[in-house]
Amino acid sequence: MERYDVVVVGGGHAGAEAANAAARAGASTLLLTQNLETIGQMSCNPAIGGIAKGTVVREVDALGGVMGRATDLARIQFRMLNRSKGPAVWSPRAQCDRGLYRRAVRAILERQPRLEFAQGTVSEFLMSGERVVGLRTKEGRSFECSAIVLTAGTFLRGRIHMGTTTQIPAGRSGDAPSVELVETITTQGLRVERFKTGTPPRIDGRTANIAQLERQDGDSKPYWFSSFEKSQHPQQLPCYLTYAGEPVKEIILKHLKESALYGGLISGRGPRYCPSVEDKIVKFPNASRHQVFLEPEGLDTSEMYVNGLSTSLPASVQLEFLRRVPGLEKVRMTRAGYAIEYDYFPPDQLLPTLQVRGIQGLYFAGQINGTTGYEEAAGQGVVAGINAAAGVMNCEPLILGRNQAFIGVMIDDLVNRGVDEPYRLFTSRAEFRLLLRQDNAARRLLPIAERYELLAESELRLLHSVIDSENSALLLADETLISPADANPILESSGSHPITSSVRISELVKRPGVSLSRTLEANGIQIDEDHLAWGEIEIKYAGYINREREAAKRLAEMDDFRLPADLPFRAFNSMSYEAREKLERLRPSTLGQASRIPGLSPSDLQGLVMEVVRRSS
Ligand code: FAD
Repeated sequence: MERYDVVVVGGGHAGAEAANAAARAGASTLLLTQNLETIGQMSCNPAIGGIAKGTVVREVDALGGVMGRATDLARIQFRMLNRSKGPAVWSPRAQCDRGLYRRAVRAILERQPRLEFAQGTVSEFLMSGERVVGLRTKEGRSFECSAIVLTAGTFLRGRIHMGTTTQIPAGRSGDAPSVELVETITTQGLRVERFKTGTPPRIDGRTANIAQLERQDGDSKPYWFSSFEKSQHPQQLPCYLTYAGEPVKEIILKHLKESALYGGLISGRGPRYCPSVEDKIVKFPNASRHQVFLEPEGLDTSEMYVNGLSTSLPASVQLEFLRRVPGLEKVRMTRAGYAIEYDYFPPDQLLPTLQVRGIQGLYFAGQINGTTGYEEAAGQGVVAGINAAAGVMNCEPLILGRNQAFIGVMIDDLVNRGVDEPYRLFTSRAEFRLLLRQDNAARRLLPIAERYELLAESELRLLHSVIDSENSALLLADETLISPADANPILESSGSHPITSSVRISELVKRPGVSLSRTLEANGIQIDEDHLAWGEIEIKYAGYINREREAAKRLAEMDDFRLPADLPFRAFNSMSYEAREKLERLRPSTLGQASRIPGLSPSDLQGLVMEVVRRSS
């Protein structure tokens, strides 16, 4: 029998990262997946990053991961989201060429000498007492190993729905589901539950009247997700914005009973933040229209992804409503949208290392833990891969703290709070979100990368030199005085009042619109602009960051705060809609219980305390 330290099952976003991390950490690793051609396949939207997710991509990269490097090689449009809100919450997001992304992931993985690949559908785990010792595939191959990372995504007993009459067993469109694997796991006593998700139709872009739509170009300023490789980006393409208005609404309402979601066929819960168009129309009846983005699928195809119209209506209805969207009157639909139901394992069955409680050597990562999203899967994949290797090599396991990484926040939420809907990352899930930024991910996680030897010598050298340069920029800003003669022209152009005597550069940079680069330059100090972003944010946001730390401390002290039984949660307007809805449903009796409900943010909890105090005074 062939033998490896670690076998990673699945070649999606969790699997790719787990295999890469285990191999980088020193384990002989096999990536075993149903179809080698689909390694790195994006099941839904060909886009990486976004709010909180972009930071996760940077964290994955800091730990030697694949996602950032592959995105840099495959991106056909880039935008820094939240740019108007200040750099502490900037969120990088890239539209990718689906094929290029897949090939980039495979090529990056093949650079790892300790990583091998095999095609096969795993049907059974081999156990010795309470520890995994190997696995078998449907095709009759067996492998011995000390650890398994399972990353089977939406494939476990996956079932596609299009309308109420078309149901296809599948892991996603075009891929077979994984059935036997669920049975082998549930015989170990694990609970299994069901979630759902959906995807919109794709269209032939040549049949869309693009000229009448609003064109959206990406940013022109260069950006790389990876700290290690400044690869050449492919040609950049625009997206287009249109709207689904009253005519679309009428068609959908007329056919609502034919929707798999509304016809009562699907029982699992879906991701609230990627609602189907049926959901949007039913839940927001007063909205006159909904945004629809036409996003290119790649450089060598005219196919476009219709972002905003995810649906489980029959294909014929999909075509009917697509043709009522302005600009799509004569459109040809290349692929119909669909909903998919799948099994996941409630993640409160996991340790914070992502090892299954009570089963030595078995780790779960990605969508099977009840999450949704490529980045969430990738972040878990890295941690599971490192821990699988650490377990084999008798090293200390990795548990990322909530103040260390968004990945740490996510895993802590998953294993301690469980999930009651597909878990997606938001900045509001993190109480230390001003510390967990995209610009400082490499710096935050460098000690971990060093501890597990995840980076090559050349990568480490590069990172250290960037960090040294960033540190010296901040030091210079603190130590250098700038004269009124040098400072006042800068202040004038930023609309700030002039100074009359010399001040420290760091003092000046605290003012809105005053940049670190211009003030250093005015003093004759030249530093690469890329190495100034970190220092500038540290200076400008120092006050907010300290205040946030204080707020987190206060919140911890209020953990035993009692909540009266008759609280009218729905009326608490200072809290998010999601929080009010969940509190009304679950009615916790203490603030501590409320804090463990998935999706309630620290600011929601603060709002709750304020409401209770106000009512009792
Ligand atoms: P996957 O990417 O699903 O990869 C699973 C891998 O495991 C595959 O390579 C598969 O071949 C392999 N595998 C499965 N079983 C076996 C086996 N027995 N043996 C060997 N290999 C096996 N996310 C969002 O954030 N927003 C959305 O709107 C959204 N919509 C989606 C719509 C659809 C229709 C689907 C299918 C997914 C959608 N997702 C969405 C989720 C997103 O695709 C996943 O979060 C992400 O792909 C999860 O990555 P993963 O690595 O966990 O699993």
